[in-house]
Amino acid sequence: MEFTEAIVLKSIDYKDSSKILYLYTAKGLQSVIAHGVKKMNSINRFLSQNGNLINLTFSKGSFPSLKEGELLNDFPEIKKDILAYTYLNHIMELVNNTISEDSDHPKMFDFLKRLFVLFNEQNDSEILSFIFELKLLYFLGYGLNFKHCNICNKNEFLVFSVDSGGLVCKEHLNLNQQSYNSDIFSLLSKMYYLDINEYENIELANTERVIIRHIIDQLFEQYVSFKTKSRNILLQLQKY
Ligand SMILES: [Zn+2]
Repeated sequence: MEFTEAIVLKSIDYKDSSKILYLYTAKGLQSVIAHGVKKMNSINRFLSQNGNLINLTFSKGSFPSLKEGELLNDFPEIKKDILAYTYLNHIMELVNNTISEDSDHPKMFDFLKRLFVLFNEQNDSEILSFIFELKLLYFLGYGLNFKHCNICNKNEFLVFSVDSGGLVCKEHLNLNQQSYNSDIFSLLSKMYYLDINEYENIELANTERVIIRHIIDQLFEQYVSFKTKSRNILLQLQKY
C-alpha cells in the first residue's frame, strides 16, 4: 500500500478512544479516522498532534481509516514557543478553511513543508506568517498588484490601498480610502514575492509589524471573509 505524506492540521476526539485527523497532503485536504489512537499502547498515539508531518496509509472509501503511520517531523522547537505555535495553528486553520479542491496542492504542500522547517529553525514566526498569508491571497485568486496604478497604469506617486487590492496613484485614490506609502508597501511587496527556498531574515520595526498585521487582516476580511480562532489568541498574546 502506498504511503502519503501529510500535515496534521487538526485532530478531534471521536468516540472513546479514537480521533479524526484533518490532514493536508499533496493531493489536498483529507480526513481519516484513527481508531484506538488514544489508547496508551497504540503505536499511532504520537501522530495526531497538530502540526506534525506524518507518513501514512489509509483505507479507501468516503470515511477512510488510518492503517499505518509514522512520524516524519514533530517540529519540536515550534511547540516550545507559544507565539510560534499559535502562528502555526493560524496558518493551518487558513489551509483547512480557505483552500479549494481544485488548487495547486503539490505546490502549496511543498511550500508549507519548507515554511514549517523555517518555523522550527526559530525564524521570526510572525514574519513567516505574513509571507504565508500574502502568498495565500495569490493562491486563492486575490493576487495583489505592486507594479503600477490599478486604474491608469502610471508608476509614480503610488500608494497601497486594501480596497484596490494593490497600488493606485494619488489621483485615483478615493478620499475616504485608507492608504499606505512606499515605506510600508515595499515591505509587503518584498514578502509577497519572496522565494521561500531562499529565505533571508527580514527586519521589521514594531510599528511596521502592527501596520502590516492590520493590512493583512483587512485584506482577508475583505477578500476571503475568513478569520481564524488563532487570530484572536494572537491578539491576546501580542495586543495587536
Ligand atoms: Zn492612476
